[in-house]
Amino acid sequence: MATENPTDWPQPYPLMDAEPYWAALADERITFQRCDACGETLWPARKFCVRCDSTDLTWHDAAGTGEVWSHSTVMRGPTPTWQAIAPYTVGFIAMDEGYQLFAQIDEPADEIAIGRRVRARFVQRGEATLPVFVFDGEDDGS
Ligand SMILES: [Zn+2]
Repeated sequence: MATENPTDWPQPYPLMDAEPYWAALADERITFQRCDACGETLWPARKFCVRCDSTDLTWHDAAGTGEVWSHSTVMRGPTPTWQAIAPYTVGFIAMDEGYQLFAQIDEPADEIAIGRRVRARFVQRGEATLPVFVFDGEDDGS
């Protein structure tokens, strides 16, 4: 789904624990943490495991695929930049690695459904490279 490309996108402010995530995005990779002690998948990024308190956490690449877990379509953007692409849909993606990632779902709102397979593609929003999700198995047109 084509979207306009405003130039004044609000920029993310990387939290210290998530700096590797943002660095990997610039390389068009989605990453997440896993606990080496108990195997728990962790997201958002943390300094210690929420299950076993271990600080033995490692960053891994995600495949960039998953399914829609929730979605909501924004009819009125919160800023002029977001308004330029409204209506648009955001939601949680249940990633195949077992965590949920919040992102834009760049598909027609009436075709998005919970459980539908999606995959990430990457868009440039100002200085930031960000993942947006499109239906899996279809040409993303880029
Ligand atoms: Zn753990």
